Amino acid sequence: MFKNDELLNLFSSQETPFYYYDLKLLKQTLQSAKKAADKRGFHVHYALKANFNDRLLSVIQAMGFGADCVSGNEVQKSIDTGFSADQITFAGVGKSDKEIVTALKHRIFAFNVESIQELEVINELAGQHGERANISLRINPNVDANTHHYITTGLDENKFGVPNSELEKAAAVIKGCEHIDLIGLHFHVGSQITDMSVFKSLCVKVNEWKSWFEDRGTYIKVINVGGGLGVDYRDPDGNPVADFEAYFDVFDKFLERNAQQEVHFELGRALVAQCGTLVSRVLYTKSGSKKNFLILDAGMTELMRPALYQAYHKIEKIGGDGSEKELNYDVVGPICESSDSFGKEVLLPVSKRGDLIAIRTAGAYGEVMASNYNLRNEIRYLYSE
Ligand SMILES: *Cc1c(COP(=O)(O)O)cnc(C)c1O
Repeated sequence: MFKNDELLNLFSSQETPFYYYDLKLLKQTLQSAKKAADKRGFHVHYALKANFNDRLLSVIQAMGFGADCVSGNEVQKSIDTGFSADQITFAGVGKSDKEIVTALKHRIFAFNVESIQELEVINELAGQHGERANISLRINPNVDANTHHYITTGLDENKFGVPNSELEKAAAVIKGCEHIDLIGLHFHVGSQITDMSVFKSLCVKVNEWKSWFEDRGTYIKVINVGGGLGVDYRDPDGNPVADFEAYFDVFDKFLERNAQQEVHFELGRALVAQCGTLVSRVLYTKSGSKKNFLILDAGMTELMRPALYQAYHKIEKIGGDGSEKELNYDVVGPICESSDSFGKEVLLPVSKRGDLIAIRTAGAYGEVMASNYNLRNEIRYLYSE
């Protein structure tokens, strides 16, 4: 894709670095997800934390997705973007009183509750404000997502969810709370999961916990299995759209449910990762005795994933015909941190000052994690329809 001279012309006149969003690919991805979900009667909430860029959000909202939020400001932003309150969920281990009140006032679809104390606080605040809150209890299913340990969330050792040993107590506390209604169970095991057997294991655990509640006379209307579907960082052009059919099929096959029970998903990365590219210019090249460096004008302040969890992003030179001589480069940013590197020993066409470099699959957990460390400039954008 980025061997494309049309893009080279489009980008050449732009000040770098900037995020380039391919809205056509975004729409294709959303349509593919929506079609596969609708076919099975599944509800999909978009996890705003992956990317809350206004242009992207309005496209996602217009396609009929719900919103999955992890802060009061995300709840407010979803409302402002036009997401309907009855399609908004609010998760997170540390919701502040102010954030809870914001969500209560908007009468969102459900709070995904992560501790017994949080149940009590929501109940109390709902009472004070004359509101009722729907809640889903987040259960830690102890399923290993086989992904990087920083993005694994569903193991007993992680901070997320109500510990299994506390569920009996949580169920009793809910019965005693006058201002909250338990409508569902919530699970989320991690991110960038490409092994479908992980989701199958999740289904088995979900079935067990659902029966556990039903055996105690608690009806579960909503089964929320979270997000986590991964994308192909190695081959973004070969696999620009995640395999939503295969993903939803696992849940369709293995989740036990009756016709009244709703299945909800919270997808972030799989919806937005591939449509975003960080575009940067080579500032300097430098060769030592062992290394060749490409020093870019983008760094961890624009895209933190490599520095934060050694994430791989495909790096390409923009333009050219593929016949150029190649060299191994360490591709680094300008920030004063040794971890400010996008990739080591990356084979690229021989490059010079001023050349444009694409860092692919940067649409999820990219610009949302940007900072102005080193007093860097605000992020810039370019969109194509
Ligand atoms: C981050 C998060 C998601 C989205 O995860 P992806 O891997 O981006 O799909 C969904 N649900 C919860 C509770 C989350 O914290």
